[in-house]
Amino acid sequence: MSESDFAPTVAPTPIVHCRHCRFWDAHMLARPTRTPEGLCRRKAPAPAMLADEADTGTSWPKTFEDDWCGDGEPNEASGF
Ligand code: SF4
Repeated sequence: MSESDFAPTVAPTPIVHCRHCRFWDAHMLARPTRTPEGLCRRKAPAPAMLADEADTGTSWPKTFEDDWCGDGEPNEASGF
């Protein structure tokens, strides 16, 4: 077997981590976490009603800077 037997047939799509994504809003959350945390603003906030009496308003998904997803798009500062 040669090294070319294991080469990918399609160029891999680069992963855009949240910290480099144009949809990430890193300014929030003062509580200590394992890595900096921010809000994913890729989609409109969804209503978050946990019980009939407890309307918590809307919420944006919270992500860590080293999270990623398939919808990520590089921001201008990322250099991609
Ligand atoms: S979850 Fe996806 S779309 Fe949202 S900030 Fe992270 S990489 Fe970007």
